[in-house]
This record gives sequence, structure tokens and C-alpha cells, in this order.
Amino acid sequence: MTLTKETRVTLNDGNMMPILGLGTYASPDVPKSLAEEAVKIAIDVGYRHIDCAFITGNEMHIGNGIRSKISDGTVKREDIFYTGKLWCTYFSPEMVRKGLERSLRDVGMDYLDLFLMHWPVSLKPSGASDPSDKDKPFIYDNVDLCATWEALEACKDAGLVRSLGVSNFNRRQLERILNKPGLKYKPVCNQVECHIYLGQSKLQAYCKSKDIILVAYSVLGSHRDKDWVDLSLPVLLEDPVLCKVAAKYNRTPAEVAMRFVLQNEIVVLAKSFSAARLKQNLGVFDFEINPEDMKILKSLDKNLHYGPFKEMKEHPEYPFDDEY
Ligand code: NDP
Repeated sequence: MTLTKETRVTLNDGNMMPILGLGTYASPDVPKSLAEEAVKIAIDVGYRHIDCAFITGNEMHIGNGIRSKISDGTVKREDIFYTGKLWCTYFSPEMVRKGLERSLRDVGMDYLDLFLMHWPVSLKPSGASDPSDKDKPFIYDNVDLCATWEALEACKDAGLVRSLGVSNFNRRQLERILNKPGLKYKPVCNQVECHIYLGQSKLQAYCKSKDIILVAYSVLGSHRDKDWVDLSLPVLLEDPVLCKVAAKYNRTPAEVAMRFVLQNEIVVLAKSFSAARLKQNLGVFDFEINPEDMKILKSLDKNLHYGPFKEMKEHPEYPFDDEY
């Protein structure tokens, strides 16, 4: 199948997701105005899927960027696929809608295309009742994931969001949602770390069997933000085998890293705030990796997580202790 920047996958609820999305996370020292500018450039060059999250603190800027491209006539709201994420301090059922409404307000939209449970771990801020307080250390909470999911279903019924999904869930946690008595809507996707070093093939096979799409983050080897990533881990885009394959196709390592994931039928998120790289990364649609080179790239899988979220290791729902 020929993939283009217009290609969308059909989700299990009938909605359509563009197969390439713009990632928008940047470390706190990066001026937020850069995120707004990047979104405008991305829309100008053809990105239609934009991934964001409450916890990254930039929904307002991303929203400004999108709305300015709607007001200047470049796109209509319905052309854009915007993903938001419910942060883990909003998991108690009475807080879920508040969390979504907060994102809607910040991004300046009357509906989101997709809303994800960001992690399968419920948290509460220590010593404060305000779940939006990002500066307070978090403590573990034990909200039932199925209760959060039911409250999300009510938000979809209220028209505040078109599709519902999860992120960083393992098979057991997905099964719990899927087996929930009275389940009304299945998650449409599971957004997880996935790249040449972390193929996620077992999780993907399971998700596929349930008609759930896998969406990949950190495809380029992550933001390498020192607060989240162990900087002694290898730089993915410098992998010698990846670079050799890229040279063979006369493409950048980034294009090959993204294309590999797309050819595995996984939706790709890639972050760039650079105008040149935003354009260059669209080159992913101008070539195809042959089956032999796909095999070579697949052999690089070493189950390496750039973002193991170690802070949550003791949480009973920490997702990465299971095999997948
Ligand atoms: P990526 O793997 O997308 O890598 C981003 C880095 O790659 C940036 O430093 C960027 O720099 C650089 N880059 C982009 N294009 C190129 C290129 N052509 N050549 C060389 N370097 C390049 O990182 P993320 O970890 O940010 O993942 C992508 C998105 O996924 C996030 O932004 C976020 O939206 C989402 N995400 C979701 C998570 C979740 O828990 N659900 C967790 C982590 C991420 P520059 O900007 O300078 O181009």
C-alpha cells in the first residue's frame, strides 16, 4: 500500500487517524513560543495529526498554533486530528470530565479528536487537592482504571471527545478494560514507546487481535531530556546499521527510523520544532524499505526503553514489569 501524508487509518469506532503525527513535548527550558511556531509550520507543510498532553504544559500554545491556521484558512477544524491526554491525577471518576474540560479550555476547542489515559497509574499530588498542580510531588493513588474508563465513555457520549484510547498500557491492563462488564467503547489505540530498539511486536499482535491501533512515540530515539532519559543509552539516530541502511536509500536515519515503524503498520509520532526537519521528515513518504532491509532493522530490537518511567516503579500498576 502506498503511504502518503494524507493516509489515515480507520479506528475501531469508525474515526480516522492520520498515520503521521507531530509530537510536541519539549523540556521546560524550551520557550513555549517555539511549540506554537512549530505547529503552524507543521500544518503549513501538511501535518494534520498533533499529539499533546496536559502534563507537558503547552496545550495553550499548541492550541494557538492550530487556531491561527484555522483562522487564516489553511485548514478547517475537522482537518485536524488533535490528541490530548488525561493526566494521572484526574483518574477519579468525578475528576475525569474536569480534566478533559481543562484541556478543551487550554487548547481552545469544543471537542478533542482523541483523549488518552496517559499512564495506567493513578496519582494524587501530595498535600494539595488540586490535581492540576504539576509542581507538587505525586503520591500513589489506587483508582480503578475501569472506573476512569467509564467516566471517559460518558465524556464521549457528551460529545466532548470523538475517540478514546490509552497510553503505556500493558496487555493485562488492556485486558482489564476490554473485559469490563458493560464496556461501551473499546480503546481505539495504545500509544507506547516504539522504535528500532523497541519493536513491541507482541503488544502489537495482541492489540491487532482486538482491533486496537498501536501509536509509537520516541521513534527517533526520544527527546533525550535528562530528567527522563538515561543519557548513557545509545543515540538511536547514530546507530551504525540504521545509518548504513539510510545511506543505501539516500535518506536520513530519521526518515528510515520512521519508515520502519510505519511499514510495521504502526502510527508514528515524531517531534521536531525545526522548520527544516519538519519538512525533511515528510520524506518518509517518498521511499519504501525492502523486506530484506526491514529484517535487518528488525534485528536491532533490544527491548530498550528510553523512558522507563522509573519514578513509578513501585506503583502497583507500573506497566513495564510484565513481558508486554
Ligand atoms: P522523538 O523520538 O520524536 O525525537 C524528538 C527529537 O528528535 C527532538 O530532539 C528533535 O529535535 C529530533 N529530531 C526530529 N527530527 C529529526 C531529524 N530529522 N534528524 C535528527 N533529529 C531529529 O521524541 P519524543 O520522545 O518527543 O516522542 C515524540 C512525541 O511522542 C512527543 O513529543 C510526545 O508528543 C509523544 N510522547 C508521548 C509519551 C506518552 O507517555 N504517551 C511519552 C513521550 C513522548 P528538533 O526538535 O530540534 O528537530
